[in-house]
Amino acid sequence: MPDITLWLPENDLIRRQVLNKLTEETGELLQIVGRCLAQGVDKADPRTGKPNIEALADEIADVTAAVAWLDEVITLPPGRDARIARKLDGFREWQQLLDAAE
Ligand SMILES: [Mg+2]
Repeated sequence: MPDITLWLPENDLIRRQVLNKLTEETGELLQIVGRCLAQGVDKADPRTGKPNIEALADEIADVTAAVAWLDEVITLPPGRDARIARKLDGFREWQQLLDAAE
């Protein structure tokens, strides 16, 4: 396979906007998760005083809404629920290992 291949951006306006919103909202979620790691979930933004846990809840809701909109516009292949279940099982198993290591 060549190193350079042709690719063209999504040209459907609605799909592009859905993907733009998902990008924006996931970026905002990443930002607040980073702040929670750096300052603590139970602390607040020093500039605005907004509790980090409220900002986290807001951004999770925003990402959830963006995914819901994506589901209305783009038909994804089946299997999401099974993947979520597998991931969650893995996270819980990892948590047990962490608990046992403490
Ligand atoms: Mg947001």
